[in-house]
Amino acid sequence: MPIYEYQCVQCGEKFEVRQAMGEDGSKLNCPKCRVGNPRKLFSSFFSSSSSEIPEMTCPTCNSGVCNLPY
Ligand SMILES: [Zn+2]
Repeated sequence: MPIYEYQCVQCGEKFEVRQAMGEDGSKLNCPKCRVGNPRKLFSSFFSSSSSEIPEMTCPTCNSGVCNLPY
């Protein structure tokens, strides 16, 4: 199920919601101030994986500055 990112029009809070395809955000409420009808920002099937990408450091010198291919 895709994850959609919304931003509250009241306080600017950004939050992610897992929704079925084609569902809109008109029934959603901001988790912070509870104002409804947030603005849709972004949708992704892989939203939670971006923070799990390991750092691009060289395994040989462990400094990340030698630019050798892996
Ligand atoms: Zn809010």
